Amino acid sequence: METLYRSTRDQTGHTVTASQAILQGLPQDGGLYVPVDLPDLNLDLAKLSTASYQEITYQVMQAFFSDFTAEELRDCINQAYAQQSTIAPLRKSQDGYFLELFHGPTLSFKDLTMALLPQLLLTAAQKQTSDKDLVVLTATTGAAGKAALTNFAGVTGVKALSFYPEADISAIQKQQLVAQTGNNTAAIALAGNFDQAQTQVKLLLNDQELRQQLARNHYQLAAANSLNIGVLIPQIAYYIYAYTQLLNQKTITLGTKINFSVPTGNFGNILAGYYAQQLGVPINKLICATNRNDVLSHFFQTGTYDINRKFYATSAPALDVFIASDLERLLFRLTGHNPEQTKRLMTTLITTGHYEINQAMFAELTSFYAGSADDAAITKEINRIFRENQYTIDPHTAVASAVARQYHQQTNDKTLTITLATASPFKFPNTILAALAGKRESQDGILAAQRLADFINLPLPDVLGKLIGAPALQKWTTTPDKMYQTIIDVLRLHA
Ligand SMILES: *Cc1c(COP(=O)(O)O)cnc(C)c1O
Repeated sequence: METLYRSTRDQTGHTVTASQAILQGLPQDGGLYVPVDLPDLNLDLAKLSTASYQEITYQVMQAFFSDFTAEELRDCINQAYAQQSTIAPLRKSQDGYFLELFHGPTLSFKDLTMALLPQLLLTAAQKQTSDKDLVVLTATTGAAGKAALTNFAGVTGVKALSFYPEADISAIQKQQLVAQTGNNTAAIALAGNFDQAQTQVKLLLNDQELRQQLARNHYQLAAANSLNIGVLIPQIAYYIYAYTQLLNQKTITLGTKINFSVPTGNFGNILAGYYAQQLGVPINKLICATNRNDVLSHFFQTGTYDINRKFYATSAPALDVFIASDLERLLFRLTGHNPEQTKRLMTTLITTGHYEINQAMFAELTSFYAGSADDAAITKEINRIFRENQYTIDPHTAVASAVARQYHQQTNDKTLTITLATASPFKFPNTILAALAGKRESQDGILAAQRLADFINLPLPDVLGKLIGAPALQKWTTTPDKMYQTIIDVLRLHA
């Protein structure tokens, strides 16, 4: 059975194949691609209990990306994970488990899918018999853009550009970005926040003038953020893999329900968890954990999405998001696949800053629990987990861990909970040292990471060690209104 994709806002019945949706990134109508129907994975969790992460990824991708051949998918997967010896292990704690998704080259869970994307895009381009080079645009809170640039660096036929909000990312993330090698990559510092970066990138991806100017120079645009189905869909794999690991180690038996707690920004990661549940993984609750910017948890609690509020720069910056783009995909399902209603809600959000879903839609949200943890709660949680488990978690993981604890205390639910550990603590050493040692580090960036390594008596990850003394290679800067021109400059395009 072929899995086809459609836009959440399309009212004409237009569908595209997986490779078309991957290559195009976003539909032109401002919506997002979603599968017309979720495919049947014929999930045999018992049989998969000894399968590798790669094998499970393959099972997911062959069902969703049905116009790719088995060989093409296996090639993408083998190339993506060739360098990674550890992928998504579970770490036991007093409260449940952490699923460590941060063992890739940039120490964030975004590596798991960004590693797949270059090959997926190139294969998709070949299928569409395109002879153009790809220009990949990302808006990033630091992690996704770095993961994209790292994985695209040196790949022929692709130029990768990533815009990051200069003031909103950690010192280490900035060091990682400016040290990025590869003459086909550009990390561009934006004088603005993440929502501005993301909004502008979305507009640019639909900008016909830009598309035409690129086409005249033998380029074609592609989107490489969580909004691309090539990024979203493979995330389903680690929800399945977490479950099969528990089965394999006999912590649970087939059919036992578990919870996942997910630190949530753009809503991509947790949406993949929701798809996993719909596909048959026995999931009780998906815990949507936000930081002080609690727009999403407020939505799940009240049915009202409201961005007319103050924005805070927090110690978990990847969650400093007001417009959680991937939520539109859930809304589309909640409306019973109604593009007109979905579009109306999203337009209302842009014009008024808020929307409210109806009773029937709200009643469909029973799989979710939502809560938030501010910076003080993050600090407290990092400290508690360290004391109780001799284990260090990053601020994003701490948000999910703290909200999972709130959930268990409020509901008395005894279901086993897996907290998604989305970044390595070494990416946020100052926050963690402050939480554990009670004092602010005077050093910043990599030196602070070394201090943290000494303090918790663990080796500094290699990828960070390599940053010491690395030259700043990336020098581009821009403002939200000049991003178009910056793309032209970076690519040295002619009119
Ligand atoms: C991107 C990111 C998140 C949020 O994931 P979404 O898919 O945007 O909800 C959480 N933690 C870290 C470390 C991230 O980089």
